[in-house]
Amino acid sequence: MSIQQQHYTVICKALLAADHYVTLLAVSKTHPAATVAELHALGQRHFGENQVPEALQKMQQLQSLDDLQWHFIGPIQRNKTRAIAEHFDWVQSLDRKLIADRLNAQRPASLPALNVLVQVNVDAEAQKAGCAVVQVPELAAHIATQPNLRLRGLMAIPANSDDPQARRQSFLRLQQCYTDCRQRGLDMDTLSMGMSDDWALALECGSNMVRIGSAIFGSRN
Ligand SMILES: *Cc1c(COP(=O)(O)O)cnc(C)c1O
Repeated sequence: MSIQQQHYTVICKALLAADHYVTLLAVSKTHPAATVAELHALGQRHFGENQVPEALQKMQQLQSLDDLQWHFIGPIQRNKTRAIAEHFDWVQSLDRKLIADRLNAQRPASLPALNVLVQVNVDAEAQKAGCAVVQVPELAAHIATQPNLRLRGLMAIPANSDDPQARRQSFLRLQQCYTDCRQRGLDMDTLSMGMSDDWALALECGSNMVRIGSAIFGSRN
């Protein structure tokens, strides 16, 4: 198992060439700790996981590496909030107040505030996780009042569609929601959108954090 180093290099160069600073989140779910270590050696620092037990095992194995930033990007079950609060640096998939309150209460005082992105159900899909667009400012404002959480911005996974225009509309809706929140005085600096297949389009629409798995690590099977 090995990373697609050429793909990684091409993506990093493209991000550096963008007209604004873009953070690359390497989505390492299903890939072993050794692969994360390989990418860390190339300078990668932000990694994304969507299963708590799998992530904790990798963190344990990679304790000796400097500056790793772990992002939780999966659905959050309430019985997993303590482990997330104790071990992650970022949560990108927060979509309801109850989970925000649990993470705030369970974040250890010895750690910096947990960085939080609100996940937005940007295409109003029935089965999809995420907060409805109209409810985002209220949830974000609530998070901003929690001392052990640090509101950073918004994340979305657009609806599956082969139509690039539809995808663009989804990204622009999230970008608009982000702008609205900031205009209401909510302090946000992170707009997380774009994955292996559509990160270039997401950048055009204002993304400043892309979450890339298969294009770096190969397919997950
Ligand atoms: C798996 C995942 C990704 C990465 O998907 P790829 O298509 O492999 O780049 C990005 N974001 C979230 C929330 C994911 O679960």
